Amino acid sequence: MTHILVVEDEAKLAQFIKLELEFEQYQVTVALDGFTGLSSARETKPDLILLDWMLPGISGLEICRRLRQTGDRVPIILLTAKDEVGDRVTGLDAGADDYVIKPFSIEELLARVRANLRREQHEDTDLLQFSDLTLNRSTREVFRGQRSIELTAKEFDLLEYLISHPRQVLTRDQILERVWGYDFMGDSNIIEVYVRYLRLKLEHQQEPRLIQTVRGVGYVLRE
Ligand code: CA
Repeated sequence: MTHILVVEDEAKLAQFIKLELEFEQYQVTVALDGFTGLSSARETKPDLILLDWMLPGISGLEICRRLRQTGDRVPIILLTAKDEVGDRVTGLDAGADDYVIKPFSIEELLARVRANLRREQHEDTDLLQFSDLTLNRSTREVFRGQRSIELTAKEFDLLEYLISHPRQVLTRDQILERVWGYDFMGDSNIIEVYVRYLRLKLEHQQEPRLIQTVRGVGYVLRE
C-alpha cells in the first residue's frame, strides 16, 4: 500500500485530506505540527509527503530542507496559502517537488499526488548518474564510462552522498555526519584520506576530476 504522510496543523483540513486519500486506497499518517512531521517522515519512510508550509514548531520549508540535506528523496508536495505563492520558488529551492495552493479542490490534490508518485516510480531511484559516473544503490556497482570501479563500503557511501547532491557544496561536518555518523570521534582527516582513495580510483585512466575541493569548506561533485 502506498503510504502518504500529511503534515498539516489545521486538524479539520488534515482529517478531510486523510479521509479522501484513504478513500483512494492510500495508507495515511497525519502529523499536526512540524516536529512530529519531521520525525514521522524519518521513521515511517512515506512514499510521498503533503507538507503544509506554515506549521507550528518547525516550518514545512525547514522540514523539506532537512530531509533533502540527509539525502531523503521522497516526493514532497507543499501546501501553501495564496499569499505565500510568491515564495514558491523558495519552496522548490528547498527541495519540494510540487506545490498546491490553498484553498484547493480535492481532485486537484489527488491529481498532483498521482503525478508525483508516478514520476517517482518511473525514475530508477537506485541508479544515480553524474557526468560519465554511474552508481547503482541496490547492486552497489560503480562505473566510470564503461569501466567498473571497485570501492570499499565507506568509499561507496562517500561517493553515494556526493552523487546524490551534484554541484552542491557539502561541508566537512555534513560529510562526517552523514557518512561516518553523528558519533564519529576519530580524526576528521579521514575525509581527505577517503577523497584521495576515491580520486585515485575514479581518475585511474587520467579521466577529468569530478570530486573538487572547496578550500576551507568541504567538497563538491562538479566537472
Ligand atoms: Ca498551517
